[in-house]
Amino acid sequence: MKNISIIGAGTMGNGIAHVFAQNGFQVNLIDISQNALDRALSTINKNLERLLSKERITSEIKDETLKNITTFNTISEGLKNADLVIEAATENEDVKLKIFKQIDKEAPENSILATNTSSISITKIAAVTSRPDKVIGMHFMNPVPIMKLVEIIRGYSTSDEVTQTIMDLSKQLKKIPVEVNDYPGFIANRILMPMLNEAIYALYENVAGIYEIDTVMKLGMAHPMGPLQLADFIGLDVCLSILNVLYEGFGNPKYAPCPLLVNMVAANKLGAKSGEGFYDYSESRKAEKISKQFI
Ligand code: NAD
Repeated sequence: MKNISIIGAGTMGNGIAHVFAQNGFQVNLIDISQNALDRALSTINKNLERLLSKERITSEIKDETLKNITTFNTISEGLKNADLVIEAATENEDVKLKIFKQIDKEAPENSILATNTSSISITKIAAVTSRPDKVIGMHFMNPVPIMKLVEIIRGYSTSDEVTQTIMDLSKQLKKIPVEVNDYPGFIANRILMPMLNEAIYALYENVAGIYEIDTVMKLGMAHPMGPLQLADFIGLDVCLSILNVLYEGFGNPKYAPCPLLVNMVAANKLGAKSGEGFYDYSESRKAEKISKQFI
């Protein structure tokens, strides 16, 4: 494998592009938004600067990494010679099915098609292509350059050979791949999301306050971040949509999203990205938030 096309240059796409490029792959980074592409290149540059200042990379590696990335505004242009396509576009089933129909038609016949989806069925995505044996989940964790895990999700028809190729490729990126089967939420979100939901229920039922719930989990369970703060960083809309996938996928009420979460999303309190979730991320409250975070 040499040429990797990445669709979507947002939070995850830019991290995935960075990791492949730093490991010597040629990366075509594609996004319909020129703004997203510009932001992605500037984030990658900043992250490389940080690694350079900590002497974790040389300036040659920084330059090589940036040189290995080419950006494109359309999928068609960016797929040429792709050995592997990784879709990291918006978490929306219709968007992803449309993208996979197109890449199946336009990517080289032998290329493997991967998705970074957090919760959408790999099997369903594979079914809109003519090569379901070559479709696989490659679920990187955020922030991609730092987090070691890649959850490798086998769809119903994914072949052994494709799974092995992607497991080996992940190791080449110095990541630790873990193979799982395609059921709602895979492993990461099937276990994480009910925990976050339970923390929101504890707040909703007034068992304890925000600070108390997060402190119990940080100091008591050695979690680096409390569940309510983590939900804020993931995005409350994203948490709600994954819980709905679990709830509908298993038909089990234990996954039903807490009404407080539903209300907060309806009120556009989406966490860090909207400036307010369980915590206040506005400038004026930043100092208070940070002092609480590190107690
Ligand atoms: P994001 O909103 O930051 O970025 C998505 C990008 O996709 C945007 O820049 C958008 O312009 C682009 N896009 C949308 N439609 C497109 C199309 N048709 N062609 C090309 N580009 C298109 O989203 P994100 O947080 O980077 O998430 C991307 C994927 O990664 C989702 O499937 C998400 O579930 C998954 N994921 C996210 C996280 C996380 O913590 N954010 C973690 C693991 C997996």
